[in-house]
Amino acid sequence: MPEEVITTIKREFENNERSHMSIIEISHRSKKFQHIITSAEQKLRQLMQIPDDYAVVFLQGGGSMQFEMMPLNLATKQRNIAVLDSGNFSKKAEEAARQVGKNTAILDSTKDQHYQKLPVVPSNFNASVFDYLHIVTNSTIEGAAFHQNNLPQTTGRLIADMSSNILAEPYNISDFDAVFAGGQKNLGPAGVTVAIIKKDWLADQDLTGVGPMMRYQNHIDKQSMYNTSPVFSIYALDLVLAWVLDQGGVTEMYRRNLEKSGKLYAYLDQSNFYTAPVEKSARSITNIVFTTGDIQRDKVIAQQAEAAGLFNLAGHRSVGGFRASLYNAQPTDAVDALIAFLQKVEQNA
Ligand SMILES: *Cc1c(COP(=O)(O)O)cnc(C)c1O
Repeated sequence: MPEEVITTIKREFENNERSHMSIIEISHRSKKFQHIITSAEQKLRQLMQIPDDYAVVFLQGGGSMQFEMMPLNLATKQRNIAVLDSGNFSKKAEEAARQVGKNTAILDSTKDQHYQKLPVVPSNFNASVFDYLHIVTNSTIEGAAFHQNNLPQTTGRLIADMSSNILAEPYNISDFDAVFAGGQKNLGPAGVTVAIIKKDWLADQDLTGVGPMMRYQNHIDKQSMYNTSPVFSIYALDLVLAWVLDQGGVTEMYRRNLEKSGKLYAYLDQSNFYTAPVEKSARSITNIVFTTGDIQRDKVIAQQAEAAGLFNLAGHRSVGGFRASLYNAQPTDAVDALIAFLQKVEQNA
């Protein structure tokens, strides 16, 4: 979260002389919240240039609930969901879709290459026998990303999980039929999830057996207030979106993220001590994965980093090594400090 936003939250949290109610006490039916949620949607539409024929909804349940909601609302019983397996979160989505009774087909997987490359759509792919193709734009754990210039091509519907790089780099929403993102990586605090869905796709679905809370249309019809909304998370999201706009929008976030990740990759690539194993064209600009090649040594260095004030540098428990998460709110100074630390470790090794 941007420091300015935390400061605003702190200031406004108790500053409630008139209503005597903090943001965490107001009703989701209040005028004040109505204003906040309208503002958040409008700002997100502006930042991502979301066309009018797409619905925007704020939900709970995280990215993981979208792994079930998307198939329940958008996949038929007869056809398959196509999946490109580019890491842990695409595999999880594929498993969840099967568990809610849908058929899936993994078109390609780079698991055997430790997800250091991107999977590709096979040349004989026939989109018409699939409901949609599911991709994860940025593999948060493994560090490979489909950027706008290397998106998989399909003539059918495309769904993207953008949980870890929404607003970090530009995407053309019209290239997708649905997009979702849990809030806690690049948008704000945990507790709110954004879903952006082409309206015409929702219109002709058979939702027999799908409960009311799992139906997008119910949430859309009630402007994301079908049941009690996560008021605080949406309030904080609105502040973060205002901050992004104020900084210069996605264009400026992208410029900063290229600068931050570029500095770190440049250092890692010239180093004889560390390696960044993800193929260059597929490298994430938000999650930079690297290692010294010795998982035990990496662990010790990550602990030393904490002592030096650099937190959360250990890679995900499933892969080890290091992962520097350079989300929008992470300043360039932090990357400079990280590189200085890594250099010192390298010199002393
Ligand atoms: C974190 C993450 C998820 C899971 O999000 P939850 O909100 O914890 O359910 C899904 N997909 C991606 C790409 C993620 O980074």
